[in-house]
Amino acid sequence: MKHIVILGAGFGGLQAALTLGKQLRRHHLSEEYSVTLVDKNRFHTFTPLLYEIAATSPETATNLELQTLVSFPLERLVRKRGVAFMQDTFVALDLDRKIVALSKSRIGFDYLVIALGSEPYYFDIPGLDTYALSLKTFDDAIRIRDRVVSLFRTSERNVRIIVGGGGPNGVEIASEIRQWIPELDEECGRKNCGAEITIVEGSARVLAAFDEKTSEQAMKRLHTLGISTLLNARITKADKERAYLSDGTSKNYDILIWTGGVTTNSAVNSLPLKKGGRGRIEINKNTVPDEAKYDSVFAVGDNTLLLHPLTRMPTPLMARPAIVEGRVAAKNIIAAITKRDRRYGYPFRSYPYIAPLGGKYAIAKVGRFTLSGLPAWIFKGFTELNYFFSIMPFPTAIKVWFKGLKIFIRNDRLG
Ligand SMILES: Cc1cc2nc3c(=O)[nH]c(=O)nc-3n(C[C@H](O)[C@H](O)[C@H](O)COP(=O)(O)OP(=O)(O)OC[C@H]3O[C@@H](n4cnc5c(N)ncnc54)[C@H](O)[C@@H]3O)c2cc1C
Repeated sequence: MKHIVILGAGFGGLQAALTLGKQLRRHHLSEEYSVTLVDKNRFHTFTPLLYEIAATSPETATNLELQTLVSFPLERLVRKRGVAFMQDTFVALDLDRKIVALSKSRIGFDYLVIALGSEPYYFDIPGLDTYALSLKTFDDAIRIRDRVVSLFRTSERNVRIIVGGGGPNGVEIASEIRQWIPELDEECGRKNCGAEITIVEGSARVLAAFDEKTSEQAMKRLHTLGISTLLNARITKADKERAYLSDGTSKNYDILIWTGGVTTNSAVNSLPLKKGGRGRIEINKNTVPDEAKYDSVFAVGDNTLLLHPLTRMPTPLMARPAIVEGRVAAKNIIAAITKRDRRYGYPFRSYPYIAPLGGKYAIAKVGRFTLSGLPAWIFKGFTELNYFFSIMPFPTAIKVWFKGLKIFIRNDRLG
């Protein structure tokens, strides 16, 4: 039996695995090829809702309930879909001998997809990795929530929160925590006590990767919510209670959240493949790195660098491109197995982008159009549901999505 191995069960890896399982069945190849999806975690994490987890009171939902809304057991997601799941950590790769070394075993492969994602990047800023909380996993979100709750229960003054980075994740988490504060105040029986939330952003506007109109709308919303922004300001150092800024000033904080950057998963560093910025594996539009040397290796998602052929702009580190790349890699593996000449290419197009900004308000950019407020928030809900449909059975997807909706709107006090 030949073996296809996928490293990483995030957006890209899971999609590659499910597409391969389906296509192998369609081509009557399931008896000849097996697919193994490897991840160090037992769960597939739906990152776009982590900001909601970080801002939901323990009284509203238990950790277990929250986990079922954004962390889905991989074993169950791939069951009966022609894919085996293996929980293990990737350690090393021998590309010439086609062997993957995991922490507990070694497995051979005929085709390999590398989809190990990214991790927070601290730009070597002293103290940041020690004192800042990151937001990348379910546990990170719970850590932020617990810290906010414990400070609200014990502090006699405003809780000071600094969010480093005014990109999508920074504005999302800042806005949602702001929405949650009236509920926390009620729970703690306090009056006139709240939080001061400040976003520190290195460039001249928040959501700097998007157009100016989107940034302006986001700024307006942040100010309506009472969130301060420090633009053209970088954190240069952090200690236990103070963040030092590039203009020479410093700011005290109770909670420092870092969303200012990501870098390639460090497990990718040792791979003998050509790398671009921040160690990302350079791939071509067929999701193949270094085609001349290794025609059975594919890489997708955040751990890759794929440049637009005309603009030379990198594909954004977002879920949708990772999903599409996962499908492209899977189809190209099937094409190689069935000895078809046709290769599938990544369709360079701009995918809808949605930034939730607290409560039932979002900004969505769909092609040339920008939606904001409730319609954008509804659109966001449907894109989430659409993703759930793609990875789980229809009734489960509806159940998970609806339960999440019911829980997550409970803290929306500011509209
Ligand atoms: C808080 C947050 C919110 C986001 N919101 C959005 C959004 O709204 N819309 C959007 O488009 N994008 C969003 N993103 C970005 C999106 O999550 C990423 O672009 C996407 O996850 C990339 O998919 P991937 O498959 O490359 O990597 P990931 O989804 O990160 O998956 C990588 C997988 O590899 C596994 N892994 C890592 N190391 C090892 C190892 N050594 N051995 C085995 N397994 C390993 C991990 O456990 C993980 O399951 C958000 C990201 C964050 C952090």
